Amino acid sequence: MKKDDCIFCKIANGEIPSNTVYEDERFRAILDLSPAVKGHTLIIPKDHFDDLLSASDEVLSDAVKLAKKIGNGVKEALGCDGINVVQNNGEAAGQTVHHLHIHIIPRYADGEKIVTWPQLTSDPEEQAKIAASIAGKL
Ligand code: AMP
Ligand code: ZN
Repeated sequence: MKKDDCIFCKIANGEIPSNTVYEDERFRAILDLSPAVKGHTLIIPKDHFDDLLSASDEVLSDAVKLAKKIGNGVKEALGCDGINVVQNNGEAAGQTVHHLHIHIIPRYADGEKIVTWPQLTSDPEEQAKIAASIAGKL
């Protein structure tokens, strides 16, 4: 299913041109227009899902396999030392295009780390409560 006025629906389905590095029946992978690093690639399903949380299991399992394929291709082509696989869900998490996509970002041993977060100390009692509360929702 496509969504009207969704830019990634249009790009994935070839209605808007892109620097495509890979295409099959269900996905297109393109270079990010405003890359974090040269070679920053986006894997975009041709069907519209707002994000990972609402996507079909079929698309997600293929997407992860494709992330491996594209990640290895990017690594070989760019000669980078590692790859960040980033996937944002919801505005609060930094998602700006609300059509599921996976970022493949080349990383270099001497480059700065761009995917980082603060590391809080954790309270064992609180951790146990949080774990139980999440487990209760699964
Ligand atoms: P996110 O913040 O996870 O939603 O990522 C959206 C990404 O899409 C950003 O890295 C943008 O630079 C990229 N982007 C937005 N519009 C385009 C476009 N027309 N072609 C390629 N990449 C795009
Ligand atoms: Zn879409």
